[in-house]
Amino acid sequence: MWYEFKNKRVTVMGLGLFGGGAGVAQFLAKQGARVTVTDLRNATELAPSVKQLEGLPVTYRLGGHWDEDFINADMIIINPAVPRESRFIGIARDNHVPLDTEINIFFQLCPAPIIGITGSNGKSTTTTLTGKILQQTQRTTWVGGNIGKSLLLYLEEIKPSDIVVLELSSFQLEELHNAKISPAISIVTNISPNHLDRYSTMDDYIQAKKGIVLHQKPGDYAILNYDDPELRTWEKECKSAVLWYSAKDTLTEGAFVKNDTIVLSVKGKTITIPCISRIKIPGVHNLQNILAASLAAYLAGAGNQYIEETATTFSGLEHRLEFVREVNGIRYYNDSKATTPESATAAITAFQTPVILIAGGYDKGSSFEKFAEVCARHTRAVVLIGKTAKKIKELILQKKAQKETPSILTPNTFREAFQQANTLAKSGDVVLLSPACASYDMFLNYEERGRQFKDMVQAL
Ligand code: ADP
Repeated sequence: MWYEFKNKRVTVMGLGLFGGGAGVAQFLAKQGARVTVTDLRNATELAPSVKQLEGLPVTYRLGGHWDEDFINADMIIINPAVPRESRFIGIARDNHVPLDTEINIFFQLCPAPIIGITGSNGKSTTTTLTGKILQQTQRTTWVGGNIGKSLLLYLEEIKPSDIVVLELSSFQLEELHNAKISPAISIVTNISPNHLDRYSTMDDYIQAKKGIVLHQKPGDYAILNYDDPELRTWEKECKSAVLWYSAKDTLTEGAFVKNDTIVLSVKGKTITIPCISRIKIPGVHNLQNILAASLAAYLAGAGNQYIEETATTFSGLEHRLEFVREVNGIRYYNDSKATTPESATAAITAFQTPVILIAGGYDKGSSFEKFAEVCARHTRAVVLIGKTAKKIKELILQKKAQKETPSILTPNTFREAFQQANTLAKSGDVVLLSPACASYDMFLNYEERGRQFKDMVQAL
């Protein structure tokens, strides 16, 4: 490896709670670096990550950042969530201290080919599906990245003949783009406005995502969603072979649906996998996720039987359109991970039955126009919480015009929201938590929001 960490003073900026910060700190400490971990949050808030580092020689500088940690260092590792305009990054730059990230180090040191998965929605589901198909094959498969596990710690075990499946956020892709790195096989699930609190324009956000294909080489593959209008324009910029997938159209190459089968067609070879009617995860969006994962796994060597097995047995991830329980004919679904209007829209339209929706939360700067229209058309009632409640309510009122439904409620607490939704629901209805917003105004994270919802359902 051309990185030399032994005895180097490395500052890890942003420990976070998603595993990346803790992963890189552990890796560096094991490589013999002198690691300083600094984060704006304090030790109590970061307890789970601090616990992961127990016993390692790490210096903590929590509850703030200090100039000297960015001056007297040989290298700074920045967490993808740190805003690039941070004063401390400027200090490091002024002092010629090199900056790097966990994901860049991993890409440069990983001996196995990487399948990288990004998109505005569906990353974790598609990453998990791809991993599950490949884990059944002979090929040793590693799954990680933004999904919550840093694979840096497994670097010594990963062999060139293995395959790595990584979920990549736009923040991680920005760093890879700066280093001119793209995965050998890339999947982009869809592009819709997201994180516009961080990117000044939609174009900046799209550019960050595009990094996943821009540095691919001939012989690499870009697997793109044909049903997404933005992605359709990407082909001309790809040097790799583009393979499309569509849940709606029949294609000449790539992945699509024909009757009850998934058709995979690559370089003149076609295989069919009978499975559509047995897929458990609801919605067209999940069918798209399955198509993308099947194509990537097929390119990495998975045969029909493994694709069929995963497509027909996978019942979804926690907090993603997760079926919780049926009580008195009312079905309860936890979709707390739906932190964008597009993902909540996908959830609402996945049901044929009337939906009582619980939505609202932290304002990421998303546009709720289309979402409000879907609420007006497809829900019986909308119970709104959090910072965005008022904004969403006004939009739905505009959209619903003369129609009587949906009724709109704006309770003060999450508990009250649940009780109101429950009172409104009748046998045959779905009560759906699909907030369309992040959770930070009322909860620690989306997991806590989802768990509270499930606890209330279980207590019925
Ligand atoms: P991500 O990792 O991109 O946040 P997840 O797989 O965790 O995506 O799903 C997040 C939310 O988006 C869930 O609410 C899920 O129901 C919804 N979703 C999943 N796949 C898609 C898709 N392809 N298009 C739109 N929404 C999706």
